[in-house]
Amino acid sequence: MLCKENFGALCHVTIPRKENDKNIPLLSSHSMEEFSNIWSTFNSELFAFKKSIWGVKRNEFCHAGEWSGLLNLGTGIWTPCYSIRAQKRNMFKNPDEPFVFYPVGHHCNMPHCYNGHSFLSMGDIPEIDTYRYDQLRDRTCEDGATWLTDDTRNFYHGRLNDGKLERYSQQDKLKFSSIKTKTIVNNIIAKATHNTDIL
Ligand code: SF4
Repeated sequence: MLCKENFGALCHVTIPRKENDKNIPLLSSHSMEEFSNIWSTFNSELFAFKKSIWGVKRNEFCHAGEWSGLLNLGTGIWTPCYSIRAQKRNMFKNPDEPFVFYPVGHHCNMPHCYNGHSFLSMGDIPEIDTYRYDQLRDRTCEDGATWLTDDTRNFYHGRLNDGKLERYSQQDKLKFSSIKTKTIVNNIIAKATHNTDIL
């Protein structure tokens, strides 16, 4: 295999998805069971973790938007996560103004967290504590060498909530959720009324 010959170990395996379908299903002619039987032969932790969260709707309080986000480096458009597109803002427009980050909380509207190998392994939902990101990316070669250096492994082993106390009590989370709902609704109404992006 190409990867083994050039990098000393089998590559990791991901799960392709159909993003133009609101249910974000598997993009394959195989059923998930068949797909899994084929690709699990690679013994990829990345694949194992992605499969374990595939199709699972997340209802926990998610810190995406506060501890992580999606930034288009070409346009400056920033969104808290895939789930909250209505709250896009332009990070490059007024760079001197403070940029306020706030979490998605209980408002994730995605059917499942298909890129949770990044967001969840890094701690956006602190109670999900399974694989760390380094464990999903590293490989040990036949000669005992590893793909990640010690420094990179240590860096990726950290979680976004390491050293941080949860900033929100249960009561705060509920309060925040109701404020957030109003903001989302107001943004959608403003967008529909003015037919402009909320930036
Ligand atoms: S898609 Fe995942 S990371 Fe994003 S808001 Fe939903 S649960 Fe959080």
